[in-house]
Amino acid sequence: MAELRINDLHVEVAGKEIIRGFNLSVKQGEVHALMGPNGTGKSTLAYALMGHPRYVITQGDISINGQSLLGLSTDERSHLGLFLAFQYPVAIPGVTLANFLRVAVNAKNRALNGDEKGISIVKFRKLLKNKMDLLRMDHSFGGRYLNEGFSGGEKKRAEILQMAMLEPRFAVLDETDSGLDIDALRIVSEGVNTLGGDHLGVLVITHYQRMLNYIKPDFVHIMFEGCIVESGGAEMALKLEENGYDWVREKHGTGGDSAEKAL
Ligand code: ADP
Ligand code: MG
Repeated sequence: MAELRINDLHVEVAGKEIIRGFNLSVKQGEVHALMGPNGTGKSTLAYALMGHPRYVITQGDISINGQSLLGLSTDERSHLGLFLAFQYPVAIPGVTLANFLRVAVNAKNRALNGDEKGISIVKFRKLLKNKMDLLRMDHSFGGRYLNEGFSGGEKKRAEILQMAMLEPRFAVLDETDSGLDIDALRIVSEGVNTLGGDHLGVLVITHYQRMLNYIKPDFVHIMFEGCIVESGGAEMALKLEENGYDWVREKHGTGGDSAEKAL
């Protein structure tokens, strides 16, 4: 089973250290939830995993099966099996969802197997239909322009379909602050549960416990001031629901900005 490993990661944004010694291992087939108060660096971690240029890794490593992702483009990371669900997907008028997915599948096959010819239209259509059926999506959806005029729920569906087509080994879902309605939550969760199983390792990033009513985590980690301060099972999320984050702040807080204090 493949392993996504984050080792002693430090990340700076706009010259300020946000992630401070973050460690986590996610294996295929495992579901991990990363929770924590706002501003603690959860989205920063997601951007760093994706390879966003504004999020500068100053120390540590991110690897899949021992192969470092540092220095790889977002594309290359995706070809190694990492999938990141965007909180705010962009619209691309004039490009249908089906065409977009075909380009993505071809790019992946080219990178992985040197397949220059690309998937045949017939084969692609069949694959797309299978995945749409799996996710109980209307087939007409593939003919719509990518994200143009999509409702929040439809954007989420398109994203989950993309995940189904690319068959990643690891999916990172940053849903934290987007205020997903229950419908969108359900779509994402059902998709993850349907596609999951032994072959998908999931990292769900969320501020709220409610997401975890739909996706059952094997492990829950609490992030605070840039690193994981507590880890446990699903019961950890319930503790947060009951008690909020105050006890985390009291137990682990430094009473200010530790990075500035260190200066
Ligand atoms: P969370 O997702 O846990 O709410 P974020 O990772 O979004 O936390 O933010 C952590 C800290 O990093 C915040 O203090 C935020 O202001 C800062 N930060 C995040 N992204 C940027 C950015 N692009 N530019 C400047 N500061 C940023
Ligand atoms: Mg966030």
